[in-house]
Amino acid sequence: VIENLSDLEKLAVLGHGNGGTVYKVRHKLTMEVYALKIIRFGEDAGCAAKVQQQATHEGEILKLVDSRFVVRCYGVLDSALDDGGDMYFVMEYMGGGSLQDVLRTRRRLPETTISRVARSVLEGLRYLHGMQIVHRDIKPSNLLINGRGEVKIADFGVSRVVADTMEECDSCVGTCAYMSPERVDPERWDGDYSDGFAGDVWSLGVVVLECHVGRFPLIPPGQKADWATLVFAICLGEKMAMPESASPEFHDFVCRCLEKDWRKRGTVEELLHHPFVTRCSSGRLVVDNAF
Ligand code: ADP
Ligand code: MG
Repeated sequence: VIENLSDLEKLAVLGHGNGGTVYKVRHKLTMEVYALKIIRFGEDAGCAAKVQQQATHEGEILKLVDSRFVVRCYGVLDSALDDGGDMYFVMEYMGGGSLQDVLRTRRRLPETTISRVARSVLEGLRYLHGMQIVHRDIKPSNLLINGRGEVKIADFGVSRVVADTMEECDSCVGTCAYMSPERVDPERWDGDYSDGFAGDVWSLGVVVLECHVGRFPLIPPGQKADWATLVFAICLGEKMAMPESASPEFHDFVCRCLEKDWRKRGTVEELLHHPFVTRCSSGRLVVDNAF
């Protein structure tokens, strides 16, 4: 158990996100390596207090999440709460970087690799949804890979709550590129909140298709991805960039995820039994090292 920020030694910067910076750190006593996410709060004191309160609450939930398909959060450092605003989350270190990094260097992935990614994400979603947690921000930068090539879901809860609250406070707007039609257009929303699980399946569909075509798949290359263009493509766009080389299983899997009507969309349970997912070597998560 890590109790103090001073027990950690910074080794490198792993990345920057909406809410703050992620460092690679080493616990001086055990020499164990972790990722430390620092979230900075805005200048607006009222907003910061609200965000902190919610983030602390989410931190408590996060510590209960224990699945090999979800990046672990070992703790939220309390001391951080006293010294004026920042919060520190100690997380499992994922040495292989994110799926976004992989897509930047490899552009396109073979279907066997994509099906393993899909399987891991679906297993992670099954776990989270079972805990009544809707992720709401499934995208390539939030799917992380460890040294063994295992893919895990990161960044639910805390970052999401922080981003949402900051959005309410009008200081930060995240991307809607991976959001489902019912989220970008609340008029379509006639379900109860617990049905928000279907939104995670949509996002997985976008990610999986992006891995196949090598670019964001919902708008044509070169077109500016502003809010209006994205919302139009998500809610009304008929043409998906389905590659000719795609197998029928892949095609069907993506169509089940990208069903615009969330009530008709594939469920996590259904998709875990989809031939595109079950055909990958059973149980094994390890993706080839070249990944
Ligand atoms: P975002 O998801 O918006 O890019 P984050 O703050 O969640 O921003 O993370 C920024 C980047 O830091 C990630 O995309 C990833 O490359 C890296 N990162 C985040 N968490 C970890 C982790 N637990 N282990 C290794 N790298 C991480
Ligand atoms: Mg992230």
